[in-house]
Order: sequence, then C-alpha cells, then structure tokens
Amino acid sequence: MAATEQQTGEPTDVLERFLRYVQVDTQSSDEHCDQVPSSAIQFDLANLLAEELRTLGAQDVAVSDHAYVTAHIPASAGAEARPRLGLIAHMDTTEVVSGFGVKPHVVRYEGGDLVCGEVDGQPVSIGPDKLPALNDLVGEDLVCTDGTTLLGADDKAGIAEIMALVAHLAKHPELPHPPLGICFCPDEEIGHGAALLDIESFGCAYAYTVDGGPVGELEWECFNASEVTVRFRGYSIHPGDAKDRMVNAGNLFVEFHNLLPIPMRPEHTEGYEGFIHLEGVSATCEHATARYIVRDHDATKFDAKLALMERAAAFINDRLGEERVTVEVKPQYRNMAEVVADYPELIDVAKEAFSAAGVEPRVLPIRGGTDGAQLSFRGLPCPNLSTGGYCCHGVNEFIPVSSLEKMVNVLQELVARFA
Ligand SMILES: [Zn+2]
Repeated sequence: MAATEQQTGEPTDVLERFLRYVQVDTQSSDEHCDQVPSSAIQFDLANLLAEELRTLGAQDVAVSDHAYVTAHIPASAGAEARPRLGLIAHMDTTEVVSGFGVKPHVVRYEGGDLVCGEVDGQPVSIGPDKLPALNDLVGEDLVCTDGTTLLGADDKAGIAEIMALVAHLAKHPELPHPPLGICFCPDEEIGHGAALLDIESFGCAYAYTVDGGPVGELEWECFNASEVTVRFRGYSIHPGDAKDRMVNAGNLFVEFHNLLPIPMRPEHTEGYEGFIHLEGVSATCEHATARYIVRDHDATKFDAKLALMERAAAFINDRLGEERVTVEVKPQYRNMAEVVADYPELIDVAKEAFSAAGVEPRVLPIRGGTDGAQLSFRGLPCPNLSTGGYCCHGVNEFIPVSSLEKMVNVLQELVARFA
C-alpha cells in the first residue's frame, strides 16, 4: 500500500450532489421489514445513482430486485492487480422523524443557537449547551433542514462523498486507486443492513462503510447485540377473592425489572459501557410481555448481562415454585472487532488518510451496529468512516459543507494508499 500525496486540490461537486440526494425521499418502513426494500421509493434513489455511475464510466452497474446498487470502478494505470476495495453507504433514512420532502438550506453559523427553521411560529434550534461541538463550528456554512424533517446526512452524506470521489477519479485518471467496488444499500435503518449484498460478485477483499458522525471518526468496534423477550404468566381471579391465589403478571414484570441494575440502563452508560434497555412492556394480570435490548462491546460482559436476566427470572420462578417467567434471547449482531482485529492495516491506512487530508482521526467504539458488522462476519472486513454529519435521526440534523469536502479528500487519500 504505497502512500502517495497526489491531490488536485480543486473543489468537487459533493455539495451539489448532497443537496440533490437528500431531496429524494427514501424513508424505510419497519412495518414492511419482511420485504426488501421495505419502501419502494428507495428504488428512486437507487435508479438515479445507477444512472449517474454509468455516466461516470463505472462498470457492471446494477440495481438488484432488492434495490441494492452495485458497481465496479476500474483501477488506475498500474494498480490493476491490487485487491478490490469496497466503499459502502446506505440510501434509506430512519422513520423516527419524517424524511419526506426534505428542504435543505445552507446557514452561516455565527455562534449561539443554530436555528434551522421554524415550526408553528417557533424556531427549531439547538445550542452549544446541548451540542458543545457547535463551539468549533462558528463561521462555518452548515447544511440544515427547515425544521420539519430530518436532513438525511445519515447516510446521503456518505453517498454524496463516494459519488463525488468517483466523479473526481473519472475526471483525473492520473489519481492512483485500486479497483473499487461501490455499493449503496437499502433498509439499514431498520436493521436489514447489507444482508442481501452478493459479496461474491461485489468481489472486494475489504471495504469501508461511510456512515459515521463528525469528520475524523473511525470505528471498527461495535456492540454485541441481542433482543430479549421476557414473558410473565399470571393467574387472574376476581380481586375480591384473590388472597393467596392471584398471580399478577404485571407485578411479576415489576419485580423482574427491579432486579436489573439501574446503572446498566442506557441513560447511565457511555463509551465502552454496555446496557440493558427496556424498549416496551404490555401487561395485564393474566399476561405480561417485556421487550429488552442488550448491548455490550465486550463479549464476556455481554454474556454476563444475558445471564443476569436469566438469573432474575430463575429467582422469581424459584420463589413461586413454578415457572412463570421465561426469557427468550434473539441474537442480532456481533462486535466486528472480532474480525477486523485481524486486519489492523485497514485501521492504520484510514488513520493515515485522515491525517493526510488534514483531519485528526479519532477511533471510537460504535454504540450501535453498522452494515459493516454483518459484512465483517460474512467475510468482508469493513470498518466505518465518518460522514461529517451531526444530530442524525432528528430535525436538528446538519452537516458542515467543509466536512463534505474534507471527506472526499479523505476518501481520495484512502484509495491512493490501496493502489
Ligand atoms: Zn446510517
């Protein structure tokens, strides 16, 4: 991986692309998670990107029946024999906040509250008290929403940055890069990730997702993750006749939940601390069901959290002398560090690329999962790079214009190092 410092220094079309892509609605739909894509509108962006990739001279451009866009970019002269490097981003936006009819606009941030828009006569804003990083962005041009929708920098910033790189490489054949694989996938936000990516025909030896936060973030450790459903079987009887007979499933849930340590709740954890999170509960006297998610970077601590829940159930069952509490664990994803640790050069090269583009790299543990987690375990090691975006999944989402441009530079430095 010979390093090269070749750069053109000229501005790219990343901002124009970003503003265009965020205005194509691609919200995914958990309700239809049994089909991929979960919303047919994701084909709109998929087809647009495929058309643009063809125009830029990409090969094998395809949109699959499941709305995956894949393409190959031939290597620069002399780098044809290098292994193919993948770059991946996702097209869908979360449905937590509306992603329909996004109206992006650029705000020059002068300090204080960042006001992105107005809803019902009230400004939609965020200040440095809630987001201290704003203090470093005074004087920057920020792409914001109008306050009624999310922006979709997660992950259309990643898409725009990859597309701007492809356009830049097409214009500058002298820039070194190995053969590239480009993939834009649907339904990341509803946990589908890159499950249906045909890794074999994608043909990459390794890849990066471009789906992180503020510029400089580099992530290769994510949570181990399981969903835990706890069921409580009660015995309902007229409350007037209940003495020594009624078993209230709702109360069993309360007892169970109180056996779980409060410091393990998400609102008390950060960094490498895992958590047990109560997502929801429904309860009657006869029956209760509680849905939890369990997360931890450390596999041993992760297993200990699951064991704790089993023990809490066993404690109650023992006290009652019969099995009224059952715990069902459904694995979701695993920490990709298990796989990526065998490819330290992927992290080293990414750090070098950030530094060469004038960005200080910061290695962070992901407090969630990425497409890369799943891909890593399917044989395609896949760390995650920043996009430059802030406050994703909300109406305050924004991205500095300079971050979009820097990330194209970082990607250019990155591919040069693999040539
Ligand atoms: Zn994302």
